[in-house]
Amino acid sequence: MTARYDFIVVGGGIAGVSAAYELAAHGSVCLLEQEQQLAYHTTGRSAAISMESYGNQQIRSLTCASRGFFENPPEGLAEHPLWSPRGALIVAQAQRVDKLAARFTAVLGQVPTAKFLDDQQVLELVPYLAEGAWSAGIYEPSAFDLDVHGIHGAYLGGLRVRGGVVKREAEVVRGEHRNDHWTLHTADGQRLEASIVVNAAGAWADEFAQRCGVPKVGVRPLRRTVLAVDPQCDVHHTPYLGTVDEDIFIKPEAGRLIVSPCDENPSLPCDALPDELDLAITMDRLQSTTRLRPRSIINKWAGLRTFVADRSPVLGQDPQHESFIWLAALGGYGIQAAPAIARLCSHAALGIAMPTDLAALQLNYQHFSPARCRDEAFSSLAVKQVADLH
Ligand SMILES: Cc1cc2nc3c(=O)[nH]c(=O)nc-3n(C[C@H](O)[C@H](O)[C@H](O)COP(=O)(O)OP(=O)(O)OC[C@H]3O[C@@H](n4cnc5c(N)ncnc54)[C@H](O)[C@@H]3O)c2cc1C
Repeated sequence: MTARYDFIVVGGGIAGVSAAYELAAHGSVCLLEQEQQLAYHTTGRSAAISMESYGNQQIRSLTCASRGFFENPPEGLAEHPLWSPRGALIVAQAQRVDKLAARFTAVLGQVPTAKFLDDQQVLELVPYLAEGAWSAGIYEPSAFDLDVHGIHGAYLGGLRVRGGVVKREAEVVRGEHRNDHWTLHTADGQRLEASIVVNAAGAWADEFAQRCGVPKVGVRPLRRTVLAVDPQCDVHHTPYLGTVDEDIFIKPEAGRLIVSPCDENPSLPCDALPDELDLAITMDRLQSTTRLRPRSIINKWAGLRTFVADRSPVLGQDPQHESFIWLAALGGYGIQAAPAIARLCSHAALGIAMPTDLAALQLNYQHFSPARCRDEAFSSLAVKQVADLH
């Protein structure tokens, strides 16, 4: 028998569950995930920070518009807080202070509490930094830690309360659109039908589209490495630390530090693993940035951050197949901006105007349109490293 839904969402990461939750307020929803475990790929591997100064103008607006959800989730969705205070500090060496100052000016509109710090103030905030190496910093006190597991679980629980169906180990291998509806076929032989399909397949977004006969948009999965060390000092109250050139981030997590060289190595969609050379580079950068000399690596992982050339998400109806909705290329902001992105995606799927609070932030569907990515000039651009103020 073929099960029939209003919406099928493919991908059980943060993008898929949040959009499925929003859509379930408007019709029947089935969420399909190829893995046994939801959030196994990129969503489960993030640094779990929300910074309103991060990313381009559109990303910053989406992140600001998402804050309210984390602070005051809808009634009954979450039993525990989904966030906790952290703060973030972006530092620069003497020769990069101009770039830092430009960034400060650009973000002040959206992050009015940001402060420009001198070298002494930087050291007071992060005492483990190498002395004399950092000349200035931007401190963003409103940056916060995200409880990614809690947020994902809250959306999933809300989806179930709204009657949504979740199928794991359900890899979609083929889809076809006939007589005004989609039929999706899974690897284990299920057939599912829906009026609208949402592509939240992360690093596999192009591959999934092609399986449905929809042309790709050119998403590029880029691998990022993270390791955890014991800092052998108290780091509980230190902020997230990054550099203006985005060549390292360091973040406290349960008394340890997680560290990344902010690498962006092109990858095929896969179960990403850290590369030994990238781990060595990470340890090297940690030692040149800080006074820390950790004895060993406690944990290590890698994840795929997926982009298109302008580093904005790809959201909305496919121009050639209006009932195929893109929800892809969420880069390094897919969790902090998930609440706003999910609402935007559900409005696009319903074919209605953008939510008024998002439109008031000067956002429009064109910013995110899949059509922009099919332009030849756009797709031949390299994904620009450090293109978003970072
Ligand atoms: C190291 C690192 C640090 C990061 N730090 C942050 C951060 O601090 N803050 C932040 O906001 N973001 C951060 N990000 C980015 C964030 O994690 C991503 O933007 C977000 O998780 C993307 O979610 P997604 O649902 O699109 O992708 P995914 O979580 O990868 O979900 C896609 C899912 O689709 C499934 N799928 C694919 N094809 C099929 C198919 N054919 N059938 C069925 N299922 C399929 C996959 O199995 C996968 O589970 C970070 C990412 C990394 C790697």
